[in-house]
Amino acid sequence: MVKVSEAPRQAHPMAPLFWHQGLWQQLDQRLQAGRFPHATLLTGTAGIGKATLAQAFAARMLCQSPRSENALQLACGHCKQCALVTGEGHPDLRLIRPETGRVIKVDQIRELIRFAQQSPQVAKRKLVILDSADQLNVSAANALLKTLEEPVANTFLLLLHQGGRPLLPTIRSRCQQLRLAGPDRQQGLDWLASHNQQDSHSHGAALDWAAGAPLHALELLQQDSLGQRQLCLDALQGYLKRELDLGTAVRPFQKLTQEEALDLLLLWAHDLVRARVSTDQVRDRSAAAMLGYLAGKQPADTLHHLYEATLEARRGLIYNLNPELELMALLNQWQDLMRPSGGKSPVTR
Ligand SMILES: [Zn+2]
Repeated sequence: MVKVSEAPRQAHPMAPLFWHQGLWQQLDQRLQAGRFPHATLLTGTAGIGKATLAQAFAARMLCQSPRSENALQLACGHCKQCALVTGEGHPDLRLIRPETGRVIKVDQIRELIRFAQQSPQVAKRKLVILDSADQLNVSAANALLKTLEEPVANTFLLLLHQGGRPLLPTIRSRCQQLRLAGPDRQQGLDWLASHNQQDSHSHGAALDWAAGAPLHALELLQQDSLGQRQLCLDALQGYLKRELDLGTAVRPFQKLTQEEALDLLLLWAHDLVRARVSTDQVRDRSAAAMLGYLAGKQPADTLHHLYEATLEARRGLIYNLNPELELMALLNQWQDLMRPSGGKSPVTR
């Protein structure tokens, strides 16, 4: 059993992750200058720290006496407002996120509108964090537009949006947009090492799978997803060698979340393109032999096509009603890569 030193996401973080400190200072300067936008759209890869930043900054905006730490103005953690934020809940802070069915429904936005129209109860301002703005259904998005078009004084919206997913242009255009970056690779690895005791090889593998997003990588490590990943790789290789049928090969992928399964296929498809240049460029070393072999069989166009198809499947994920079929279609595309040479394949485990 892997021991984890501390939870990656506190319920109400009071400080940003270190790779967002510069962004925090920019936000704070706007706040102090009285120029904080009514609606801010924070965009970035899943697990990069959007929610941590939004929650910590909301706490800072509600706090009565922010403290200074490393040149950052942070919520003090002790005042009445902070006690409400970290305790039973602050009446002037709302968090809206998808309910069952993975969409934000119009009722949730109507509740947001009612909240926005009230005066603050105990703080100077009101804050709404809308997590996963990309999962608003159409009527919810239209209802939200009304709020964005008619800003209420001292009410601030922080919308979180996973990069690469569609968002109504009318919503996007009414928000101040901020794209959140992650740490560089070494910083990401250092952060993982301080939160997880597995070896550096595992940290690197999880970070690649998570597209460089450290919080997501930590979740993968904590769920022992790397073991499941090996089962997926074995299954894909078995399918390529025709030792497994498609229905059997897809099963290990279905044990992952849809996001994780598609991210894994995306990592391998991307590595396949890189392997066309050199197998040294393959990040997932356990898949390097397979990827090198396949890349050598196919023109670059074909490899790019698989990568594009996987990327499209990943982006369209929330609209996909049959993930099993999607995964099977992608595995079939991998099988197609085996075709031209024919005969017995030297794919290795
Ligand atoms: Zn405080």
